[in-house]
Amino acid sequence: MQEPGLLVYTDGSRMDERTGYGVVVTKGNQVLQEEDGFLGDASVFMAEVFAIGRACLLLTGMDKHKGENVKILSDSQAAIAAVFSPNCVSLTVREAKQALAVARRTRRVEIGWIKGHADHTGNEVADFLAKRGGTRSVLHQLPASLSDQKGKIRRMFRKRWQKLWSKSATAKHTRLFLPAIGMFKNVRRLTALLGKGGLSLLTQVVSGHGPFRGHVGHWREEVRPCCSLCLEDVETAWHLWQDCPALELERVAINNREANLAFKLVDFFSNNRVKTLMRQVAEKGAESGDA
Ligand SMILES: [Zn+2]
Repeated sequence: MQEPGLLVYTDGSRMDERTGYGVVVTKGNQVLQEEDGFLGDASVFMAEVFAIGRACLLLTGMDKHKGENVKILSDSQAAIAAVFSPNCVSLTVREAKQALAVARRTRRVEIGWIKGHADHTGNEVADFLAKRGGTRSVLHQLPASLSDQKGKIRRMFRKRWQKLWSKSATAKHTRLFLPAIGMFKNVRRLTALLGKGGLSLLTQVVSGHGPFRGHVGHWREEVRPCCSLCLEDVETAWHLWQDCPALELERVAINNREANLAFKLVDFFSNNRVKTLMRQVAEKGAESGDA
């Protein structure tokens, strides 16, 4: 087998959430070229892949050593596998593959694995360069991955949605229960867990549009909006759930339980005392409706 003329060592390193890469091109005992750079908070894997790609670019630019065979040595089996994998979605991997293809137009380029931190001088130099790269101030921005982009778009829309929700002129009562968007997002799952009755109760509670004196009193003169338990405030679902001093014991009991908010609400409003209260208001509303 033909001995490679050039040995290239590549490495990636990550310390204190700063990632760097290093490449060193050697011939015999000589260092022909070296390069390092800062990659922000990219993963070590991405830095290892990127370093292989940069090594190929360096080789392509080395006119003086044109035609000399090369072996690139990386201590990352995952990075080597990625560069040779036929399927890849990562732009960084794709760029490294392209750089390798270009380098191979003018010379033989092999890529092999070398055990890291095992006293191979070339690998130690690449490791040193990668660490130094991590301390640089100029950032070499890697192309963002697809999942990164999707996450960014999702976060941007959620932020806008939250802003609209928080500033909405309507649904004031609902926002007391659900200040953050997406709290009860999976309605199908909620229905499965709570049943139709539970979900209907939950809707009445959260929207405030249920048999509560404060709500019914808006249009039924004979229903006084004042809370019949404490006589201190308007009886809304929120008042019963959060403020009514007469329901403090029920509130403590519910809040000591490990359950999600939907369950707690349905339990609290199914509690006999609260249930009776709601039934009375419902009946009163019905009575006067018939009259
Ligand atoms: Zn009250």
